[in-house]
Amino acid sequence: MAASINRQILLKSRPEGPPSLDNFELTERPTPDPGDGEVLMRILYLSLDPYMRGRMSAAKSYATPAALGHPMVGGTVGEIIKSRHPKYSVGDIVLGYGGWQEYALSNGGGLRKLDPTAAPVSTALGVLGMPGMTAYVGLLEIGQPKPVETVVVAAASGAVGSVVGQIAKLKGCHAVGIAGGAEKCRFVANELGFDACVDHRAPDFAKQLATACPKGIDVYFENVGGAVQRTVWPLLNDFARIPVCGLIAQYNATTLMPGPDMFSVLRKRLLLRGFIVSDFAAKQADFLRDVGEWLRTGRLKYREDIVDGLEKAPASFLGLLQGKNFGKMLVRMAT
Ligand code: NDP
Repeated sequence: MAASINRQILLKSRPEGPPSLDNFELTERPTPDPGDGEVLMRILYLSLDPYMRGRMSAAKSYATPAALGHPMVGGTVGEIIKSRHPKYSVGDIVLGYGGWQEYALSNGGGLRKLDPTAAPVSTALGVLGMPGMTAYVGLLEIGQPKPVETVVVAAASGAVGSVVGQIAKLKGCHAVGIAGGAEKCRFVANELGFDACVDHRAPDFAKQLATACPKGIDVYFENVGGAVQRTVWPLLNDFARIPVCGLIAQYNATTLMPGPDMFSVLRKRLLLRGFIVSDFAAKQADFLRDVGEWLRTGRLKYREDIVDGLEKAPASFLGLLQGKNFGKMLVRMAT
């Protein structure tokens, strides 16, 4: 049954530089009733993702900014608790885009029914969802890894990076992760099975990375930019491929940061290609088939970092931008 009050977290103001708790506001509104052709979802899990930093800004981007005074946008897994939609029944569990709130209406657009017996439903926001698909298409379609090549990825314990390195291993590559801190590095190497993981905060990071990549780097899956990118760059081999997925180290920058060295791009004949996961929507069935199978057979592992309660979302999101999460960041609101 729906509570009469729907708690929401609104975008109150747009940050200049790093966001703060003041940019968000917790509010209470009456829980709405679905109209004709609509459903009401009780949100079970809210996904927190780095792209949300971009949505907080009004700057021109590939997506429309989140609106001030409205619930922050976000992917969700929810249970249908009222339905006036012919395709959805009470009790259905759906992947959707309910945003930072406890209840959300939908006209069915963009909803996908989940089978709770196939995998834990939270995975639809992580390893079997947008981040997993990002890793799958970015690595395989753009990175084009070949056996014995060296694949490097930063944010390696996170939602995207953890899948990139594990797929690289499944394809016979030498997989090297970069992560923040000894505990994350241990997890990436020992639990996820990367060949090595290097701490980007270590004073001798550049030396450790060179040691971990004795044959140079053939695929650099770019998740972070900034200082990590500058350290990786000199190790790139001729004809290296660089799927440019994210630049999280630069999301709070207020001025343009220096980019990659174009002379190396020419001299080493590098291939850089930026992408947004939705560019590869046609690959979704392949992704669900392959990653689903690797999960079922234990060849691919995942880790979630779950906090309980909507009110934790703003602080957890700020933590994500600082590397405080350890695994796919999720807010659990109900079970
Ligand atoms: P994660 O779960 O990996 O969490 C973010 C991680 O980024 C942190 O835990 C931290 O890991 C790392 N990080 C933060 N700041 C820095 C920094 N200054 N230098 C180095 N590392 C930093 O997030 P996701 O897996 O969801 O996302 C990873 C990247 O993929 C992001 O850039 C995101 O924007 C991008 N992305 C792009 C998509 C696309 O369509 N192109 C779709 C989905 C994600 P650590 O502590 O290990 O450094």
